[in-house]
Amino acid sequence: TTVTTAVSSDNSFIKKLKASGRSLVVFYGSQTGTAEEFAGRLAKEGIRYQMKGMVADPEECDMEELLQLKNIEKSLAVFCLATYGEGDPTDNAMEFYEWITNGDVDMSGLNYAVFGLGNKTYEHYNKVAIYVDKRLEELGANRVFEAGMGDDDANIEDDFITWKDRFWPAVCDHFGIEGSGEEVLMRQYRLLEQPDVQPDRIYKGEIARLHSMQNQRPPFDAKNPFLAPIRVNKELHKGGGRSCMHIELDIEGSKMRYDAGDHAALYPINDTYLVNKLGELCNAEMDTVFSLINTDTDSSKKHPFPCPTTYRTALTHYLEITAIPRTHILKELAEYCSDDKDKEFLREMASITPEGKKKYQKWIQDACRNIVHILEDVKSCKPPIDHVCELLPRLQPRYYSISSSAKLHPTNVHITAVLVQYETPTGRINNGVATTYLKNKTVEGEEPPRVPVFIRKSQFRLPNKPEIPVIMVGPGTGLAPFRGFIQERQFLRDEGKTVGDTVLYFGCRKRSQDFIYQEELEKYVQSGVLNLKTAFSRDQAEKEYVSHLLEKDEDLIWDILGERKGHFYICGDAKNMAVDVRNILVRIISKKGNMSETDAQQYLKKMETQKRYSADVWS
Ligand code: FAD
Ligand code: NAP
Repeated sequence: TTVTTAVSSDNSFIKKLKASGRSLVVFYGSQTGTAEEFAGRLAKEGIRYQMKGMVADPEECDMEELLQLKNIEKSLAVFCLATYGEGDPTDNAMEFYEWITNGDVDMSGLNYAVFGLGNKTYEHYNKVAIYVDKRLEELGANRVFEAGMGDDDANIEDDFITWKDRFWPAVCDHFGIEGSGEEVLMRQYRLLEQPDVQPDRIYKGEIARLHSMQNQRPPFDAKNPFLAPIRVNKELHKGGGRSCMHIELDIEGSKMRYDAGDHAALYPINDTYLVNKLGELCNAEMDTVFSLINTDTDSSKKHPFPCPTTYRTALTHYLEITAIPRTHILKELAEYCSDDKDKEFLREMASITPEGKKKYQKWIQDACRNIVHILEDVKSCKPPIDHVCELLPRLQPRYYSISSSAKLHPTNVHITAVLVQYETPTGRINNGVATTYLKNKTVEGEEPPRVPVFIRKSQFRLPNKPEIPVIMVGPGTGLAPFRGFIQERQFLRDEGKTVGDTVLYFGCRKRSQDFIYQEELEKYVQSGVLNLKTAFSRDQAEKEYVSHLLEKDEDLIWDILGERKGHFYICGDAKNMAVDVRNILVRIISKKGNMSETDAQQYLKKMETQKRYSADVWS
């Protein structure tokens, strides 16, 4: 039988290192695949410096073996760690994080380095990497090179390659390695064409278990999503040229449960036009059945995605074909240019020279060119499709804040999603993968369209006691989870419970166009459960935002948070809105609570630990 990502029962990374003569192990804490990808690149590059490397998932390893790593000559452990949500480690690094936090082990002799993946727009920038870097030192380990900090809000690829460029010489220096540093491009997977495989052994888009889409069996989770029928898919905007969808997913019979504040995740598929275009540009035979097989036989990851499959399925279901390619992909693509100028151009953009970086920024990032656009514009570049499949990152599920309450809709999950569509500087229209996929799932025929979904639990929760007052700030799609919260408060009130003040700050561009769920919200106001405050940014000459309303309402805010120990919630844009709102809140606390700004910051931090301040934000 074919197993996709066989988890090795053998969790000894030391054994694997020894058996294959390696000295470098790169661990990753990854939620969306970037940290894993960076770890793979580092492990692969080790060979240039006589350090054969391997990638390892801390969740699959006995991490206490770190204490034995020093017994391997010239050994080094690198940690590529993402910080997630509210300063948390990723799921797969959680146990390791807790172990080094609480344990008091002697790590002397362990050589290590850390690269962090974070986002400056979030409050706890790279908290996990910073902590692990410091903690390992405290425990006696030997930092070989200063920790690198990747900022996904700016250019994380640049941060990574810049760090790497100084990291390797420091490693060579430390171990006395005379690295040639010669660049060797190597394939991580080998191609196996399999024309004779039985049709029912070929993956057709399953995330893990073969036939899991036809034979749906609970429990449903990220590896085994539930095919949920879409019962409602309707437009919420009344004008303005954008689109915001209200979607109702039927989860009856799935045994999946949710609470208001949780997230629904869904696996989208890529646009057929783009898939075919990419096939054409690579001269691919799209229905060829193949497997990509890891040349590193010690890796627990045998294939980059479920195999055997066809190129059509891989490009449709498994690969992020519209992501903006990172520099190592350009470096590999350069090898397939028949025109030397093209080759030089791609190589330069992949280099760490200031000119190269500038070109990469302008021609790739600012121009939002994906692999299809690159191959269209670099005409002599004709990579084989299997290598492209090896290079592209795995297609990720997209998360949506559930916009309903399970008390009211136990078998229906509502989501509120704004369509991503924008024109690029090259005049192309880029469409968001998941939102475009959803937009096209119209509920018209007899059979409802179905989408693969799972539920991800969150910490974003109403207070247990309904009488506690709450303030919610959610402009635009940031309203989503609060619709669920309000439904829940109304439900409890209808049951005769005492429900505390429920204040919502909502903002949008124009009352007449993107005031989503207007009628519903007005009904809640009439029923007396909701105190609604609105800011329409573009209905008058001067911009008015939710943050301005908060400033005006400082007495109300302080009364609820300071006097009555209420809860504060914020949802939506992480980049500008959430930062502004938090700053204003600190100002209000400082002024009304007669505190210094530092004390107000502390006050807010304490609210966070008490779960009285929660954020559900994304960028
Ligand atoms: P993708 O194909 O992933 O494209 C999006 C990317 O395109 C962006 O990351 C950006 O790099 C680029 N991009 C977008 N616009 C532009 C532009 N104008 N110029 C240049 N580049 C651009 N979304 C909701 O609508 N509602 C929700 O309730 C919601 N909740 C979320 C909760 C969480 C915890 C998280 C992490 C995200 C949430 N999101 C929500 C965002 C959602 O998950 C998706 O990111 C979003 O729908 C886009 O997905 P997509 O596949 O359509 O776009
Ligand atoms: P939106 O319609 O863009 O914005 C809602 C309201 O917030 C508008 O009135 C807007 O005003 C206002 N606003 C802008 N800056 C603000 C600030 N600093 N403080 C307070 N209010 C502010 O909202 P949306 O379409 O729902 O999207 C919300 C955000 O989520 C987007 O900006 C985007 O960053 C993010 N998002 C990302 C993706 C993705 O692809 N990853 C998908 C969906 C949403 P003006 O516009 O008039 O200034």
